[in-house]
Amino acid sequence: MADSASKDRAAKRSGRGGPGGGDEPKQKRAGSLGVDAGGGGGSSAPATAPASASRAHPGSAAASLVDVTVEDADALDCGVCFLPLKSPIFQCDVGHVVCSLCRDKLQATGKCHVCGVATGNYRRCHAMEQLVESIRVPCLYAAHGCALRAAYYDQESHRLVCEHAPCHCPGEACSFVGSTAALLDHVSTAHKWPCITTVKTNDNGYSNVHLHDGFNLILADCSIGNKNKGSTSSVQCLLLLTVERQQLARFISVHWIDPHAAGTSGSQGPTSKEMECKLWYSANFELIRCSTWLIRHFQSWKFRVARTNLSNGLPKPDDCFQVVVPNSVVGDGTGIQIEVRIDIN
Ligand SMILES: [Zn+2]
Ligand SMILES: [Zn+2]
Ligand SMILES: [Zn+2]
Ligand SMILES: [Zn+2]
Repeated sequence: MADSASKDRAAKRSGRGGPGGGDEPKQKRAGSLGVDAGGGGGSSAPATAPASASRAHPGSAAASLVDVTVEDADALDCGVCFLPLKSPIFQCDVGHVVCSLCRDKLQATGKCHVCGVATGNYRRCHAMEQLVESIRVPCLYAAHGCALRAAYYDQESHRLVCEHAPCHCPGEACSFVGSTAALLDHVSTAHKWPCITTVKTNDNGYSNVHLHDGFNLILADCSIGNKNKGSTSSVQCLLLLTVERQQLARFISVHWIDPHAAGTSGSQGPTSKEMECKLWYSANFELIRCSTWLIRHFQSWKFRVARTNLSNGLPKPDDCFQVVVPNSVVGDGTGIQIEVRIDIN
């Protein structure tokens, strides 16, 4: 069995896959199983696989499993597609294991990808299924507060939705990194920037917000789904609205702070969702008996908003759409009252 296993790994490193298998050789990933909760993402340490000793029989070796390390995480991956194995798992007569999708593809070749034994004899490998179910790894974001220990094969899908995934503070020279909830707390306490966490939305989906000059963070309810089909729901998103006051006008830019996005403005993370922002500004001077010549003014905009986790800092103003509102209609007060609507498609 030991020989088979090493042959298996050798096949992987030489990039020898089966039908539909990976085209590129995969590097040995010792320690990629997980990180120490206190390690903050280090990947060089071998993974530990703490096991519950509750089922340990007296005198058994189970209690010592807390010190188990997995030196080669490839051992838990399918020998053909190299993805983490999960039930149902199949093995050839010799014991080479594959996932069920690859087992189906191998049927066409009629041979095991390693030893060439006819695949008609593939059968479930319950021992391996039990093993992969029992291996739990700490979340990549354990250092940011996630206590979940996902199954090894589920590690990546959890990471993509983990609410503890970190984003960066937009403050210049500020090195704070944390979940969106922690970021909101940080900017309101450390920087004293306005944070709007409860916004009332009218029947048209607009929220009336007062933006101060500078950074404003808004935890907004965004409608998601297909309006034409009437299947809409809502999801909370963290928005960064920056108001820059210049000599003649205020420039407003909007960014979607999403820990699961890439660091570069405009690039997309694991999902391809697009955010659309509508802003509406109006000022009515009809009833105000003052010296202004202006009677009524309104502007509206509809534009796409870039997703970023701010790991590369705040995107340059030229890299996103900027709303321009003349100071002559906004006045000299601090900030601007504006209506915001966010849709995710
Ligand atoms: Zn596979
Ligand atoms: Zn085989
Ligand atoms: Zn997590
Ligand atoms: Zn900060």
